[in-house]
Amino acid sequence: MIEDNYKQRGLRGKLVRKLRQKGIADERVLEAIGKVPRHVFFDDALLNHAYEDKAFPIGEGQTISQPYTVAFQTELLGVKPGDKVLEIGTGSGYQACVLLELGAKVYTIEFNRKLYERTKDFLPALGYHPYFFFGDGSKGVPLRAPYDKIIVTAGAPVVPDSLVQQLANHGVLVVPVGGRDKQTMVRITKNNGQLKKEEFDTFAFVPLLGKEGWNPNDRKP
Ligand code: SAM
Repeated sequence: MIEDNYKQRGLRGKLVRKLRQKGIADERVLEAIGKVPRHVFFDDALLNHAYEDKAFPIGEGQTISQPYTVAFQTELLGVKPGDKVLEIGTGSGYQACVLLELGAKVYTIEFNRKLYERTKDFLPALGYHPYFFFGDGSKGVPLRAPYDKIIVTAGAPVVPDSLVQQLANHGVLVVPVGGRDKQTMVRITKNNGQLKKEEFDTFAFVPLLGKEGWNPNDRKP
């Protein structure tokens, strides 16, 4: 049984107010973050930190993104109810839950087998039902394309061309692009074959691995 008591709801409300103060203006995004119980994604040892605006380890050397980052990317995506959204980097599944709360139909792909297995079992137990895929999401999920929105939750060396190809007309891709340690948030919008590129703030994501990401065998010096 997943507990969500008044204390946790209170801390979530406080987190939402903090995100609003930090500049997140889309009330639908804030409402979605206010609904997803972030503490259930945390181990007992880290439970007290669940509503801090910080990224935390989820095992396998990966992280659950900072709430501000989740809110920032989600706001840039501009998700509408019924949108078909592809997420690259399922991780804990938290971001997928936020997208589902916005009424999207969510496809999510994870490259780490253990995280994929864990999250594919855990999210439905919480009542969240995205479509789960295992594999190299830097190439997208071409079988289910096109997508209205694509969100990449790991840092890419370049904008993956496959993801641009898999965007629907009027589609939006949000992807952090840059070095292994620091990336600029990029938004690509596709309109009648024309691509518009916008750049936003700097973030620090774990690397997007794979064919159109970083080589998993390349170790940092
Ligand atoms: N969205 C996640 C959440 O809500 O918890 C956080 C994602 S974590 C910052 C980045 C994730 O991207 C990791 O779980 C990592 O294994 C995954 N990843 C890295 N390269 C990938 C790839 N090519 N395809 C799919 N997932 C990938």
